[in-house]
Amino acid sequence: MAKRQSFADKASKKIHEKICPVCGQPLKFTLVVKPEPTIDGQSFRMRSKHVGICKCNEKSVLA
Ligand SMILES: [Zn+2]
Repeated sequence: MAKRQSFADKASKKIHEKICPVCGQPLKFTLVVKPEPTIDGQSFRMRSKHVGICKCNEKSVLA
């Protein structure tokens, strides 16, 4: 289903913000690269993903 884009939608697109439901702070998305075990468990591959960081998890994510 195609969503019709209004001018407001386009204008707000650059603000890619999510609010943490716990602390109410905007999440900052950061690319975090972590090794992840392969299916056979013999080795690791680097996996990167965007993680939303706020006060709740910044220590555990960035540690
Ligand atoms: Zn939070």
